[in-house]
Amino acid sequence: MNNDIEKVLFDQDQLNKRMDEIAARLNKKYEGQEPIVIPVLNGAMIFASDMIKRLTFELTIEPIRASSYEGTSSTGKVKITQDVKSDVKNRPVIFMEDIIDTGRTLKALSDLMKERGAKSVEVISMLDKPETRVVDFYPDDYGFKAPNEFLVGYGLDYNGLYRNLPYVGILKQRVYA
Ligand code: 5GP
Ligand code: MG
Ligand code: MG
Repeated sequence: MNNDIEKVLFDQDQLNKRMDEIAARLNKKYEGQEPIVIPVLNGAMIFASDMIKRLTFELTIEPIRASSYEGTSSTGKVKITQDVKSDVKNRPVIFMEDIIDTGRTLKALSDLMKERGAKSVEVISMLDKPETRVVDFYPDDYGFKAPNEFLVGYGLDYNGLYRNLPYVGILKQRVYA
């Protein structure tokens, strides 16, 4: 598995440090508010669980499953394949995402929660890929800026594989070429 990685971009220590910083800010902001934390499955599962362990305020966890991505390029459509199960009305919502690429997924999901009457919507992404944005959407906070490469690890997959790598790396082109 490690042989398929061109370059390690962000290792566990770097990710831990950024998660500590992001969590410290969230812990101040949401104390006493009881938000709904929404991990966007499957990609965000590793990042979200690491983040959630650092949060000290009361919260509930409601995963959502959305897909707009096949192989290594975006199809442009966002489909919710598993919705949240509780009412978001008047609750603060915090999305946890693996990576913001075109921005379509989180733009669509944020708009939906606002329509449903969420008190506030915040998006935290492990990575932000600003060069490939096609809709006007930016996360409220992110771990690291990522280059325009196909990345795997720490939840990010290629055809379901590589999610369990404990770092984010660039996948060798020969794997998908
Ligand atoms: P969007 O284009 O809607 O912002 O992002 C949709 C999804 O595409 C992300 O949540 C992520 O699952 C996937 N994605 C975007 N860039 C990459 C990448 O470099 N590697 C992997 N594995 N998935 C990506
Ligand atoms: Mg994702
Ligand atoms: Mg994927």
